[in-house]
Amino acid sequence: MPEKRVVLKNCEIIDPRSIDSYIAHDGFKALAKAKAMVPDAVIGEVKASGLRGRGGAGFPTGIKWEGARKSPGDIKYLLCNADEGEVGTFKDRYLLTNDPFTLVEGIAIASYAIGTSQAFIYLRAEYRRLKRLLESAISQAKDKGFLEHVDITIREGAGAYICGEESALMDSVEGKRGEPRYRPPFPTVQGLWQKPTVIDNVETLSNIPNIILNGAQAFSQLGTEKSKGTKVFSVSGDVANPGVYELVLGTKLRELVVDLAGAESIKFVHIGGATGRIVPAAGLDSPLSFETVLGAGAVTVYNESRDVVEVVLASLEFLQDESCGKCSPCREGTVAMVDILERFAQGQARANDIQLLERLSGTMMATSLCGLGQAAPFPVVDSLQHFRTDYENRVKQKTGVG
Ligand code: SF4
Repeated sequence: MPEKRVVLKNCEIIDPRSIDSYIAHDGFKALAKAKAMVPDAVIGEVKASGLRGRGGAGFPTGIKWEGARKSPGDIKYLLCNADEGEVGTFKDRYLLTNDPFTLVEGIAIASYAIGTSQAFIYLRAEYRRLKRLLESAISQAKDKGFLEHVDITIREGAGAYICGEESALMDSVEGKRGEPRYRPPFPTVQGLWQKPTVIDNVETLSNIPNIILNGAQAFSQLGTEKSKGTKVFSVSGDVANPGVYELVLGTKLRELVVDLAGAESIKFVHIGGATGRIVPAAGLDSPLSFETVLGAGAVTVYNESRDVVEVVLASLEFLQDESCGKCSPCREGTVAMVDILERFAQGQARANDIQLLERLSGTMMATSLCGLGQAAPFPVVDSLQHFRTDYENRVKQKTGVG
């Protein structure tokens, strides 16, 4: 199946520095259509589309908007997560570099629907060139009168992986050290400065103009029963054509990594970044969807020459560094996991180290406070499931058993 460009339809087509170029390609028609509707009808359209958050968690976007709109209080916020800190992800950078206006229009529509006059874009600090481009897009939209109902402010990210987690992200926007909050209350009830807040990522909000302009049905006829529309993927690793691809949800992993990205002799694919899932070559016919495996869209391919233990160790070393330290299962668990994985990598694994990894994984997944600690063991668990002999052989080497 070829690519299906919906979110990326303007990329490499329009001039990203010119709002007139965007307008010439139906830009801001969706905002005009939304403003002719009552806010509840806009939310109804987004709910009917079946759009789910593209940041990884997959929460239904319309339900989130409805929750914030119905929360009491006049002050509400919209927060766009453009931190893009997940390992192997670069799709937001591609989208914003080539078309910053679709995001601005999506934010304008979302702000109208939710009933907020203040939106923030939390932009990865390294994306300095993008900041200027986004500022220009916002300024041009303001000059054209498209942003009379909302002020959009860019906040630079703090350079910490954990600030991609929505509650830590809110702390960071408030000027505090980014640490996950205990929930409930959820952000739609008490978010930024304790006010109802909707947090959506770049790709989610960039889907909104298309949904409003072409209708929920046109969107929902693409995809699977629970995964509607398209998804943008960042593909890297052992492939001939690394890059950004947009596919209808439910497309097989094989079509993305083999047919489009040109991978050969695949050993496994790591999907979803450092805390993502490891899919062996035997799983290449799995559909990419919320029902199976998806994450935020980072897809890293490893060929037969790669050592799965080394790859898993690298992921856990990264997560150990990025753990915020607020809760002990993650703070201590990631350190212990790295210690054990290093023993495997150095040929020093002990007889019970596989069982130790499995017990530690179960404890971390069940007791960590936020998604980082809960999902950190995924690469360990998956690699033990699909490549157990790679671990067992190292134990045998050390102990001389078998
Ligand atoms: Fe911090 Fe890790 Fe606990 Fe999340 S799971 S709050 S990152 S220590």
